[in-house]
Parts: sequence; C-alpha cells; structure tokens
Amino acid sequence: MRRTNKNAKLGLKDLNKTVSLLGWVQNIRNLGSITFIDLRDISGIIQLLVDNEVIDTKSIKFEYLIAVTGLVQEKAVPNPNLVTGMIEIKVSKLNVISTSQVLPFNLNESTSASEDTKLKYRYLDLRRKESLRPLLIRHQISRIFREFFDHHGFIEVETPILTLSTPEGARDYLVPSRGQPGSFYALPQSPQLFKQILMVAGLERYYQFARCFRDEDLRSDRQPDFTQIDLEMSFMSQQEILKLMEKVLKKVFQQIVNYEVKLPLRQLTYHDAIDTYGSDKPDTRYEMKLQDLTKIGHQTSFEPFLKHKFIKGIIINNYATTLSRKKLDELVSMAKSMKLENLYALKVVNQKLEGGIMKYFDDITATSLIIDLNLKEQDVLLIAVSNVNHLLCSVLGNLRSFFAKELNLIPPHTYDLLWVVDFPMFEAVNGTSEITPSHHPFTRPKAGHEKYLAKKPLKALSSAFDIVINGYEAGGGSLRIYEESLQAQIFDLLKLSKAEQENRFGWFLEALKYGTPPHGGMAFGLDRLTMILANTNNIRDVIAFPKNVSAVCPLTNAPKPVAAKQLEELSLVLKEKNEKN
Ligand code: ASP
Repeated sequence: MRRTNKNAKLGLKDLNKTVSLLGWVQNIRNLGSITFIDLRDISGIIQLLVDNEVIDTKSIKFEYLIAVTGLVQEKAVPNPNLVTGMIEIKVSKLNVISTSQVLPFNLNESTSASEDTKLKYRYLDLRRKESLRPLLIRHQISRIFREFFDHHGFIEVETPILTLSTPEGARDYLVPSRGQPGSFYALPQSPQLFKQILMVAGLERYYQFARCFRDEDLRSDRQPDFTQIDLEMSFMSQQEILKLMEKVLKKVFQQIVNYEVKLPLRQLTYHDAIDTYGSDKPDTRYEMKLQDLTKIGHQTSFEPFLKHKFIKGIIINNYATTLSRKKLDELVSMAKSMKLENLYALKVVNQKLEGGIMKYFDDITATSLIIDLNLKEQDVLLIAVSNVNHLLCSVLGNLRSFFAKELNLIPPHTYDLLWVVDFPMFEAVNGTSEITPSHHPFTRPKAGHEKYLAKKPLKALSSAFDIVINGYEAGGGSLRIYEESLQAQIFDLLKLSKAEQENRFGWFLEALKYGTPPHGGMAFGLDRLTMILANTNNIRDVIAFPKNVSAVCPLTNAPKPVAAKQLEELSLVLKEKNEKN
C-alpha cells in the first residue's frame, strides 16, 4: 500500500477521492458498530471511520502504526479543533505495520510524566505536538539564518571537534589521546580561534552551526553541549556587523512569530544597562528603572545613607498595601543573601512618605523625593546602599526581575531586542589585582582605549557587544585583535608567561603575522533563541536529546564507565580503582 497523501493536507477539496494514508493510532473509540481512529502523521491528525462489520479493530491499540485506504467523505459533525475537521476517511482496508507495547506514559498533551521519564522515552515524547513544536521552530530559525548567510556571501565551514582548549571562561571537556598517552584534546568551547584563522586565510565571511562544549554547572538555560550560530567577517566595522545581524533577526521574528522588530535596534552601553536596570542583559519590556538617590540620601541625617557612597532605589507602583512587615522582612533577607547590608522601604500614603527612616528626612527633602521621583499614592520606594555601585545595582536589578514576575509586569507576546555595547575589556578577579577578560582575550579594545591597557586596564572598554532579547543574552561578539603585538600585550596583561603564550597560542600568534585582515564576528545561542521564540524557559525543551540537570542523558544513560581495556588503550588509570588496589 503506497501512501498517497499526508493527513493534514487533505480537505473538502478531496471529497470522494480514495486515499492511502500511514500513521500512528493517537486515539481509538469503539462504539460497537463503528470505530473512530485519530490517525497521526507528521503533518497532523485525521479521523478514520471504520465499519466493524467490514474490518475488525479489536486488536488495534494506541500508537500502533497502521496503513489505511479509504474514501474521503464529509463529516456529519465537523470538529473545529482539527485542520482536517470537516472530513473523515471511510476505511476500506487497514493493515497493521508495527504494533506498540503499552506506553510508559500517556501521550495526552497534558501528560503528567516526570521530565526524566519523558527524556528516557524521548522518541515517544516527541510524538506529542507540544514537544515537537520547539524543534520545528529551531529548524525554521536555522533555515532562515542559512538562507540569509548564503545570500550575503558567507561560506559555511566546519571546524574540528577534537581540538585544543579555547578560552571562553568555562571548564573544558577533555578527550584522551590514544596515540600520545598523557595528551588530551579539548572539545571546543567555541570555534573562536578557527574562525579567526579562516579570516587570516582570506575567506572574508564564515558561518557555522557550531556545537560547543562547556563543563559548567547546569541551569535552566544551560546544557553541556549546545549550539551556536557562529559567524565571522573581515573588513566590517562594529556598526556594520550589528546592522547586518539585525536584519536576520528581523526576518526570524517576522517569519516565526509574526512580530515586526523595529530597526535599528537600540544600543545601550554596558554602564547604562547596569546603572538603569541593574543588569547587562536587561529586560526592558517593563520599566521599574533604578533611581539614583545618592544626592538626596546624603541630605538626610540617616547614618547608613551618610556612610555609603551609593544610594539607589526602585519604585514599585501600587504596592503599599501588599508590603506587609513579613513581606518586607522577606525582601530584606533576599537583599542580604545577595550581600547588601539592608533594604529600606518608604510608602506613599495620603500623599506623604511613611516609613521608619522618615524621621531622618526634613520636610523639604521628603517633598522633593516625592516630586523628583514622581511618586504616586500607594507607591513603594525600596532603597539600598553600598560602597560598590555594581553590587548595589545588580541586587536592585534582581529585585526588579523578582517584582516583574510577582506583579506580572511583563506584557505577553512582546519581544524586546537591544544591543549592549561598550563592555569593559576586563573584570577584576575577586579581591585580587588580577584581571580576566570580560568577553574573551581576542576581543579588541574600543578605538582610543588602547592607551589604558598598560596602566589602567580596568578602565579600558572593548568593542564587544551582546544581543539581549527579553532579558536573555541571546548572543555576543566583538571586533578582534588582528595585530600580533597587541594580542601578545593582552596575554601579558592576563599574566600568561611568554612560555605559556608560546605553548598554548604560539600557532595563533604566528598566524597573525601573515597579513591578517581586520575582522570581527559573533555567535548567537541557537538554543536560547529557540527558547525565546518557542516561549519556554527550559533549554531541554528545545534540544532533541538533552541532558538532565545532572548532565546525564536519560535516554542513553551517558556518561557511563568504560571497559578496563579501553582505559588501558588510553593509558588511563582510574583513581578510585587505583586506591582499592
Ligand atoms: N566565541 C564567542 C562566544 O562563544 C562569540 C564570539 O566572540 O564570536 O561567546
């Protein structure tokens, strides 16, 4: 029996045609003289009508794979929930192709099976429309990017998976070499150096759907292996790269969620993002900007205000009645757990500020606070202090997102895309004089900022940029260093000895000596982009075979111990085993 049609392609136009279909039994209802079967294939569902006098359906069970032939007829009672709801197939022939065991969980859309069970039986879970949907969106995103890249002269190149460590700030996955005992490949954290080398090679525009591997603690938006849409371009300014990439994002949002992204995208400096939203990936779908209260706070006689360099706050509209003593205590302990000393609350009640600390405000200061911040009846002003601006802002930024969730401030079905630019080149390593790159060590200083490198590296800004969508860092990139001497200077600043530089990056430094073009690029996180467009906050939903939170694949049970012989071939001895010996 050859298939003539896909289920969901059939409609009233096909009335009275004889068709042959293939599919899984999604539902079966035996009503005595007739049986209804919902037949599912990749395109969708169609109802089959079987006369039990003609065909015996007793042996047919859920998820049997069957082939049927029958006549397309109009349904007496149309089903508005199905694309094919106007028609049904009056079956004249039915063959079972594959039977199915009783399922370990019900495939209803609302199945209550645990996530691990669903991942163990991912092949069954993916039969559910809801589970398959993110993968289809992922496929569409990839298609749009590929077409765009092709149209704009990018060349797709695959770079090695067995390679050397690429410094992106995470732990490497290592693969032991059999041929060279004691030596290891690293799985790439990104194809960063290879793509730069491709620019040295003169390709001018490269892209790749690159698998990247980072051995980090897992979170809801992290997996040990993930995919980047990775690209690099020669002879482009930062603005030119951003403009081009905005275009592809516009297409993606247009085609996938029918959303018109307005170009050009807003660009926010890192400094402004932190100061205004308390985050370098701000969700600006809602306001609640951080308020600088330093000046006004220093006009009060409140000791903690006077003792601290920075005083900032956030306004929570219409929250005065909700903010009980207990609630405030919860918020204070949240702030303390994030290393702030305290949190102070003021409420506007009867057009006046209320709160324990008001006794330290004179009338003029209190009135100007209301006027300057445009505070309304029932508003709450939460105030925090610190001598470290970054810490203060990030705690308030976290409270900002906490309230956005609690008070449902995020408008549904909106997308907010922006670039964050002008990141610092380096960050201080906690409490030491050491510095570490904010992006990666191949990032170029912002034009004019090379002068800070030698003496005040923390002051130097870079030409790195991130694309932020709905509060997620959906990608990032930079212009790169293309001069060998500048690259070596950065390695020096990062305290990499000349010997280490030679050992780890000698090959790369050498490549930079052969007519390297100015270049830059970025990588989008395909998983995160898909999460945003599929409207899920669980990365496992957008990956065909994801690992669970313990980095285990529940389908295959990887990772697993290996045979002693394999270890031997790799000249490896397990510590635990060794200790037992
Ligand atoms: N390799 C960088 C990353 O993984 C992206 C880039 O700079 O192109 O974040």
